[in-house]
Amino acid sequence: MASDRDVFQAPKGTRDVLPPDSSRWMEVIGAFAGRAELYGFGLVMTPIFEHYEVFARLGQSTDVVSKEMYDFVDKAGRRLALRPEGTAGTVRAYAQHRPTPPWKVWYCAPNFRYEAPQEGRYRQHWQLGAEAIGSDDPQIDIEMIDFLDGFYRSLGLRQVKLLINSMGDAETRQRYVAVLLDYWLSNAATLGDEMPRAQLNPLRILDSKRPDWQVIIAAAPKLGDYLSDASAAQFDAVQAGLRSVDVAFEVAPRLVRGFDYYTATVFEFQGLALGGAQNALGGGGRYDKLSAEMGGPQAPAIGFGSGIERLLLACDAEAVLPQSTSSTDVFVIDAIGEPDVAKLLHEIRGGDVRADRSYGSKNLKKQWAAASRSGARFGVMYGEREWAEGNVVVKDLSTAQQIEVARLQVVQWLRDHLK
Ligand code: AMP
Repeated sequence: MASDRDVFQAPKGTRDVLPPDSSRWMEVIGAFAGRAELYGFGLVMTPIFEHYEVFARLGQSTDVVSKEMYDFVDKAGRRLALRPEGTAGTVRAYAQHRPTPPWKVWYCAPNFRYEAPQEGRYRQHWQLGAEAIGSDDPQIDIEMIDFLDGFYRSLGLRQVKLLINSMGDAETRQRYVAVLLDYWLSNAATLGDEMPRAQLNPLRILDSKRPDWQVIIAAAPKLGDYLSDASAAQFDAVQAGLRSVDVAFEVAPRLVRGFDYYTATVFEFQGLALGGAQNALGGGGRYDKLSAEMGGPQAPAIGFGSGIERLLLACDAEAVLPQSTSSTDVFVIDAIGEPDVAKLLHEIRGGDVRADRSYGSKNLKKQWAAASRSGARFGVMYGEREWAEGNVVVKDLSTAQQIEVARLQVVQWLRDHLK
């Protein structure tokens, strides 16, 4: 036998999701899929790897691109990369297939980032996300935010805070970035070695979590003071719309989010029960230029991503979405080794009742123990005498009461009693 040292482990920063925990994943993904359908979004599935250049378009001052990408050269010498986020591949698919806008799609997929792993931050994480490509109507911004807000609420989360901001249009950002750069230059002593990064993209410093920078970040000029009239009107419309659908929010003047591609509306939902630096539950924003930058048509767009692992941590912290205690309703005990036991299981399952059994053991005590462990509500046993009389024993595993039910009626009996 292999010693402990020889047992392979999942790579650093990755996690296996095993039953029964995986049932919560199914619940979360199912809830998201249902909500996406309510809002008119269809499922999109793009490759897990793309040409490196697709992600490089996200911007070289984005950490995800410059420091964290899992890129590699394939056997034919192509430079490829594992997806670090969901927007780039979706926009690439839009540019390639040119569906009729607005193209409203959702996805559930793993993302890969070479980050320093810690709780809530992994090298492979899963995101539920949605993108609406081909419209600059603020109504779609409102719908997207309302969609994500409703999703969190449907899971029972209450300690969720929504922050919104506007990155303005190109004119806004040009004016603001110049002012911001001057401000960083006047604080060069604090920024130290990171000054070149501030020069590459002055906005990036605003979302830094470095404690020693928080004072200068708090005092930095605000983007909102530089919004063009058109951008301000657009941002006002989004705020009014959110109020009209009762989505509570706070305007966060320094929220810029981690990607270079954002324009106009940006938003982030924070899980207040999570605490610490890893409290961003999900977020997104407009990226009106990305399609054209990918060689596609001019297509204003908005999207968001929400990490599943972090969402489940928030559910734990708020004690919502409890782990279901059972994965089966009925456990069949085989006391006689009859082929009819397999037939009975087949019929129970055919009646849409979740059922399980033990394998390879005729020891009754062990089978009943397995039945209790399974969390099933009923145990169904085929004993010699009952078999001869055309009956089965049904035992309520929570009360230990048992009765005999006619073999031919047991499926219906179980269906009636499990309602
Ligand atoms: P981003 O794509 O960076 O805007 O992140 C969107 C969401 O994905 C975040 O709000 C988190 O919920 C989640 N997320 C991002 N990076 C990670 C990571 N390394 N590990 C776990 N979840 C992550």
